[in-house]
Amino acid sequence: MSGLLFVISGPSGVGKSTLRREVVAKVHDLKYSISCTTRSRRTGEMEGVDYFFLDRETFEKMKARGEFLEWARVHGNYYGTPRRPVEEWLQQGFDVILEIDIQGALQVKKNFPQGIFIFVAPPSLKTLEKRLRERNTDQGEEILLRMTNAHLEMKSIHDYNYLIVNDELEEAVDKFRSIIVAERCRIRDKTDWIEETKT
Ligand code: 5GP
Repeated sequence: MSGLLFVISGPSGVGKSTLRREVVAKVHDLKYSISCTTRSRRTGEMEGVDYFFLDRETFEKMKARGEFLEWARVHGNYYGTPRRPVEEWLQQGFDVILEIDIQGALQVKKNFPQGIFIFVAPPSLKTLEKRLRERNTDQGEEILLRMTNAHLEMKSIHDYNYLIVNDELEEAVDKFRSIIVAERCRIRDKTDWIEETKT
């Protein structure tokens, strides 16, 4: 038995974390993979809950030992998905969500094409900028960098299987949940199923 791998990406500030938290709370047997990062901790963020906060040296060592399923440099910091928990959960039959940037998602897609790739987009780039400013977690220059990246990131939508426009949170959560439910109902290996119905 093997679980499904859901990968969500989208520009910074689009509301991926809120969306993911809501969905993980509502859907059974779904695990969230906590990433490692070299970025400094924001107010309110907790070690081992939001991220594993590492120094650059520790990150590099883990990278060299092949301990990341994927990793990327995003907005000047390093981020990576620890390989072991994800592989173990999938083997145990749990479905797993990775909330990672587009470079990371493309790495996963190469090695794991059966993954389900979901892009979360803002209703407009103007709305995104407003959300980033209101979030108050980044300084002016940082916001500018995140907006420049957002323009580029929007061009990657076609590498994904699903698009969720995050306008109303409740509606977006509902769409995300529906995607998971539908993917769980999908018949993947028709030969197994045909053999089973024969007996
Ligand atoms: P933030 O600094 O705002 O928490 O995250 C910045 C970006 O890094 C977001 O797009 C987020 O999805 C992405 N990110 C978080 N964890 C990972 C990871 O493990 N791998 C990759 N490739 N990107 C990540």
